[in-house]
Amino acid sequence: MSATKTKVTALPGDGIGPEVMAATMRILEAANAPVEWEMAEGGAEVFKKGIITGVPRETLDSIARNGLALKSPLETPVGYGGKSANVTLRKHFELYANIRPVRELPGITTPYTGRGIDMVIVRENVEDVYAGIEHMQTTTVAQCLKLMTAPGCERIIRAAYELALAEERKKVTTATKANIMKLTEGLMKRVAEMVAPEFASLKSDHIIIDNCAHQLVIKPEAFDVIVTSNMNGDIISDLAAGLVGGLGIAPSSNLGDHAAMFEAVHGSAPDIAGKGLANPTALLSAAIMLLRHIGAFDVAATVEQALFITLAEGKNLTGDLSPRGHGVGTLAYTDKIIANLGRTSNQPSRSYKKLELKTWPKLTAHSEPNARELVGIDVFLETDLGAEELGKALEAIAQDSPFVLNGISNRGVQVYPPNEGQQTFLVDHFASRFMFKKPIPLSASKSEGQPEISYLVQRIGAKFTWMHIEKLQRFDGKDAFERPQGA
Ligand code: NAD
Repeated sequence: MSATKTKVTALPGDGIGPEVMAATMRILEAANAPVEWEMAEGGAEVFKKGIITGVPRETLDSIARNGLALKSPLETPVGYGGKSANVTLRKHFELYANIRPVRELPGITTPYTGRGIDMVIVRENVEDVYAGIEHMQTTTVAQCLKLMTAPGCERIIRAAYELALAEERKKVTTATKANIMKLTEGLMKRVAEMVAPEFASLKSDHIIIDNCAHQLVIKPEAFDVIVTSNMNGDIISDLAAGLVGGLGIAPSSNLGDHAAMFEAVHGSAPDIAGKGLANPTALLSAAIMLLRHIGAFDVAATVEQALFITLAEGKNLTGDLSPRGHGVGTLAYTDKIIANLGRTSNQPSRSYKKLELKTWPKLTAHSEPNARELVGIDVFLETDLGAEELGKALEAIAQDSPFVLNGISNRGVQVYPPNEGQQTFLVDHFASRFMFKKPIPLSASKSEGQPEISYLVQRIGAKFTWMHIEKLQRFDGKDAFERPQGA
């Protein structure tokens, strides 16, 4: 064991996982990469032992110790109660930044070949609707909470800018749906606007996510770094991978404060597992990202160049990249890459510096409001009544209380007071908005208004089934909630 080697936890995973892991390790060893592997379990075999997270304690401890993992695909059990082992790892280590480079590769012909696509998608990895906070509201109405936080936005935005600097890129594009979700997606846009001036050497812009998808198809070479929220990133990173040859060759990294995990984007390919046919390019590319992450830039470039040459030659590629009947096995492809170590391809490797990320939480793009007021509540309730009848009943309930009924909405559209000619389909789930006749200033304890709210909710509960209550606040005189459509 050499003292200069970095220990990395290696998860060979499921299906083709062990095959692509073995190939990657052989290539790295042949290139004298300064890494030492600590093998660890995760995935199907672990689920079978009854560990419902899919990741045993020893594996978590190994990653925590080393702070680095290279991971093959892990199968998610279908039909019995296990969680995804991949999600377990991302959440356990708070791997908040999912980095997906998308670059045209030599020898892989696509409709975009020659356009010079070379971008990185930085996807927030732990928040948004993927927090998985879901509740049935009635038997027919499901709800998923989209949680986005100021620290969550700031760390991902900063990660995107730091990455742009480390990779000597020129522009960071924040892609959001801030035009519709003004508070959640809007938070990411506002944080980006506050952080951007600190990175004056980089260009910054904003794009609405649907137009981003459109532009990715029309003019993908115009993008450099795109940073976006979890679900948006999930979708556009797959779309972008498709432009340069598909998920089968796409690598990614998942970065957190104390751990970084590198993986192929594809799954365990059970249809070809154990047959020696798997393409190790994606895991190898993830390992190249890992080498750069630990500062082994020269070895990373050597391995990348050998991969580029092998792909460009086009003769010894696996079946998924070859004309039917012309593919070679994992072993022959791996041998070829090893034989090409030390050669330089026509496609240069980018220059990289070490990525410096801060440790969170450390909020700087945020200012606390001086004054908070409680101005009302939304009470979500279940009823089969029509809007008019419900409105009259709730107005009667609010009488002699500190509140007035402001309006009622159904799936975000105001239905009481009604808007003339509107054709809203009503489900049995309404949001009734009650405003305090006199807003209540909130002190540091933020506990004011509770007796008033209890009084109203008890009166509502005597007649209706309510599901949840949202407090309506104003920060420094500005509403900290949205109005329903049509209100
Ligand atoms: P998949 O990516 O495993 O397979 C889709 C198709 O692509 C198959 O035809 C497969 O043969 C081919 N393919 C994928 N990788 C290849 C490679 N390296 N070389 C050659 N061909 C390759 O997707 P799936 O079938 O939807 O998923 C299978 C399993 O993988 C599921 O259990 C799923 O939960 C898991 N999965 C894991 C991850 C992860 O660990 N990050 C990601 C996706 C899916």
